[in-house]
Amino acid sequence: MLKVPEPSIKRPKSIWFFCIFIFVAFLLVSFSSYHESKRFLGEQIRENSLPLTSDNVYSHIQQDLIEPIFISALMAHDTFLKDWAINPDHSDAAMLRYLREIDRRFDTKLAFYVDEQTGKYYTPVGINSDFDRSATWYQRVKNFPENKNYEINTGRDPINPSYIDIFINHRVFDYKNQFIGIAGIALEAKKIRQLIENYQQRYNRTIYFIDRQGHVVMHGNQFGRLNNIRKFIKTPGLVNKILSSPSGYYQYHRNGQTIDVNVRLIREFNWYLVVEQNENKALQNLIYIFWFNLSVCISVTLLVLFIARITIGRYQKNLLKLASTDKLTGLANRQALQEAFKSIDEPGDFPISILLFDIDFFKKLNDSHGHSFGDEVLKDVAMILRTQVRSSDLVCRWGGEEFLFLLHQCSLDRAIQIAEQIRAKVAELKLSKDGETVSISVSGGVACLRPEESLHQIVNRVDVALYKAKEHGRNQIISV
Ligand code: GH3
Ligand code: MG
Ligand code: MG
Repeated sequence: MLKVPEPSIKRPKSIWFFCIFIFVAFLLVSFSSYHESKRFLGEQIRENSLPLTSDNVYSHIQQDLIEPIFISALMAHDTFLKDWAINPDHSDAAMLRYLREIDRRFDTKLAFYVDEQTGKYYTPVGINSDFDRSATWYQRVKNFPENKNYEINTGRDPINPSYIDIFINHRVFDYKNQFIGIAGIALEAKKIRQLIENYQQRYNRTIYFIDRQGHVVMHGNQFGRLNNIRKFIKTPGLVNKILSSPSGYYQYHRNGQTIDVNVRLIREFNWYLVVEQNENKALQNLIYIFWFNLSVCISVTLLVLFIARITIGRYQKNLLKLASTDKLTGLANRQALQEAFKSIDEPGDFPISILLFDIDFFKKLNDSHGHSFGDEVLKDVAMILRTQVRSSDLVCRWGGEEFLFLLHQCSLDRAIQIAEQIRAKVAELKLSKDGETVSISVSGGVACLRPEESLHQIVNRVDVALYKAKEHGRNQIISV
């Protein structure tokens, strides 16, 4: 079987450079956009989102907590309470009525009054006559400096000690400015905790309160940290700085994470409101985006590489096909035949014979009927030639109107027979042009390949035979 060997397709190295270039460019863009976004996000957290959350939480919490302070102040300055306290014949029932009325009017959980003189602790649900006035909180409030009259304190519920309450304890003075007791109300800590929890969820931040010593006094449901900020803010000097300024933005590191903190003092409570954001968590999305970009960039690069290889490969194949095919007749060209001859190596292919045909008086035909008619004739003849031999034989357009056959497993006698057949077939061909019937003929030379003979040598021999055929009157076959 004779065939034109397929040349190996070498893909240009530039595709690789191109892909590496795209990949590196993508990588640089992804990296720089990640870093830029990170810087921007950090700035956003510090300058906008944290202070804004702090403002929002501050104003809401203030609304929720300032009201109880007002109610306590109202009680402490109430003339009824003062009159009742200084009246030696006061009735317990009147005080209980008064406290119930406070709870009813202001919808508070528990209004209370502790009388300095009798040591009775009044609440709407009853009186504790055994209250110990030496209790720390009582003494603390009683002995407040002149400019301080109330405090917010957390402690156990006087009725149900398993609950933690927030107490607003307000000092009460008589008309002569003598201390006569402590009035105030209690709030359920659970409620405030829920409030903090709601803000935490709404703003996706950690929110808690600390007192002036740094003790965590209020936090959401899952705080999971120690009760003083000194135990988890380890940056030297930072806690002192926080506790000595009325407000500020700070940053510290906990368990390898960067935490942004906004702190502001709420003067009414003497507490600091702390709003924290874990910067690493906020950056998580950016990291996802970075990886997503990177995987898109790798996919795009691979896709480009794949498409480029396929497209270039296809073009190369087409080019190679064009390079080995004669455009007009579609037969193999001279280069293709030379390559096929070089690659004959199977002993089964021998004997090999060569036929060379040349159309007779083709120049005349061109001159009298036109060049394009000549082209049509070349195409028709090529088709006849191709159909007269096996598909495993090679037929090529050797020159202008010359055709060369490379026949495998074909003796000289068989080759002469085939050549005769072809000659007769072409001679039978009747072409019409402008109402005129045009006949054509071919002359041919035949030779069988000798051992060690080159293509050049055998072609020379058939050429001589062909020349003789022309000399002897054309339309005939001569073998050598
Ligand atoms: P003979 O071979 O019988 O001696 O006479 P000839 O007229 O065929 O002689 P020659 O081989 O010298 O002329 C070949 C002509 O073939 C010359 C050229 O114009 C024509 N020719 C070559 N290639 C093409 C082609 O692609 N198309 C057309 N139409 N003509 C071609
Ligand atoms: Mg010729
Ligand atoms: Mg000719």
